[in-house]
Amino acid sequence: MINIAIDGPAGAGKSTLSRLLASKLSYIYVDTGALYRAVGLKFSQKGFDTSLEGDLDAVLSDTSVDIRFINGEQRVFLDGEDVSDNIRTPLASMMASAVSAKPSVRAFLLDMQRNLAKNNNVVMDGRDIGTVVLPDAKVKIFLTADVEVRANRRLKELLEKGQQVSFDEVLEDMKKRDYNDSHRPIAPLKQADDAVLADTTKLSFDQSLELLINIVKDGIKA
Ligand code: C5P
Repeated sequence: MINIAIDGPAGAGKSTLSRLLASKLSYIYVDTGALYRAVGLKFSQKGFDTSLEGDLDAVLSDTSVDIRFINGEQRVFLDGEDVSDNIRTPLASMMASAVSAKPSVRAFLLDMQRNLAKNNNVVMDGRDIGTVVLPDAKVKIFLTADVEVRANRRLKELLEKGQQVSFDEVLEDMKKRDYNDSHRPIAPLKQADDAVLADTTKLSFDQSLELLINIVKDGIKA
């Protein structure tokens, strides 16, 4: 199977670009952030906040997360319920970032991600795909852009969905999340040694997609 790993900080455009890239290649697109968001949602349903004080293992042992592909689109199920839309809020983002620093949560989700890649050609995006989940991926890309640019793009998305947020809130959340994700001891966000850096700060969406397609073409040929 051919696996393409795309990592990078929040709001770099990973999911939109990865989805398009996967559809161009006829691969499956796996959004691993959605898994952490679903686990984060479970903890907030159980009354936890981002400090996550309490018995995490008890919650995890009573949690099921799975991914199904419906009309080619990934949907994520938490305890049998499709939560794909409920996990896209600023609170779910912060809860995802908090739970993702816990080794037990990362272990809980690891096999599912590896099995998907073992059985399918995938474009998989996340924070640790090239470094931990799929260290042998055929192509690895580290997708990034300046934080203000990323915050602006995310603000636009959230406003389009009707969410009431300001640029400063989005920027603050993004910086916090980047900090948490890159400073945690386990599977921190970082560029794999053999990943190609794609910085889209000055690129339009179409230019970013073209850049990724070229990196993948070169990588698959190599
Ligand atoms: O990609 P997305 O923004 O949906 O991810 C939500 C959070 O899940 C991230 O901020 C990060 O903390 C966590 N995550 C992770 N490892 C991954 C994917 C996401 O730790 N492979």
